Amino acid sequence: MKGLILFDIDKTLVKSSMEYVIAFSKGFREVYDIDSTIDIIDYCGMTDQQIIVEVLKKKGLTESEIDLEIHECMDVILDYFDKIKDSIQVEVLVGVLKLLKELKEQNFIIGLVTGNLEPIGRGKLEKVGLNHYFRFGGFGSDDASRTKLVKLAIKRAGENFGFKFEDNVFLFGDTPRDVDAGNEAGVITIGVATGNYSKRDLENTSADYVVDNLQDTKKILNLVLKKF
Ligand SMILES: [Mg+2]
Repeated sequence: MKGLILFDIDKTLVKSSMEYVIAFSKGFREVYDIDSTIDIIDYCGMTDQQIIVEVLKKKGLTESEIDLEIHECMDVILDYFDKIKDSIQVEVLVGVLKLLKELKEQNFIIGLVTGNLEPIGRGKLEKVGLNHYFRFGGFGSDDASRTKLVKLAIKRAGENFGFKFEDNVFLFGDTPRDVDAGNEAGVITIGVATGNYSKRDLENTSADYVVDNLQDTKKILNLVLKKF
């Protein structure tokens, strides 16, 4: 066992059509009687629970009012996602499949850290045959804090594989929020410029490394292997 490699999903592993985000509007309306899209906030890299909280706070609700019904709201979102998931387009980003195969072959433990509610994240990966690479992770359905999701993924790696956390965890993500969460959780962070943030944007964060994409398998493997 060499180490733990954690991946964000959206714009790190895959790109998907985002029409399902109207599911949030449905949740806001049905559960909180609020009309809003999620576009009123900058939600890039936020967890799904965090998106719910931030939108509703902006609409004047208090955190305790939001908390009271957040699970119901997530259920509405998931029901809607389930109904429309066949129409969602998902595309695997360049280099991802080869990298996952190599990491698996080299006995790394691979997990997810995604703001997506688990059935949404898994639903996307299932469509492109990547789900089986990830037996565990930290998901937006677990907590609103991405930092806590990183910690939870590490804990689950321990429970599932007897993994021991030292200086041996890498987190790949496409937003400054991924980088911040990784740093707060004490892992090595790798910014991947396949999302809305350029390589330069990510270099201006405290990411330990920044790459254009996940295509250069050899370079990325060298990066993680030099720790072991
Ligand atoms: Mg992302």
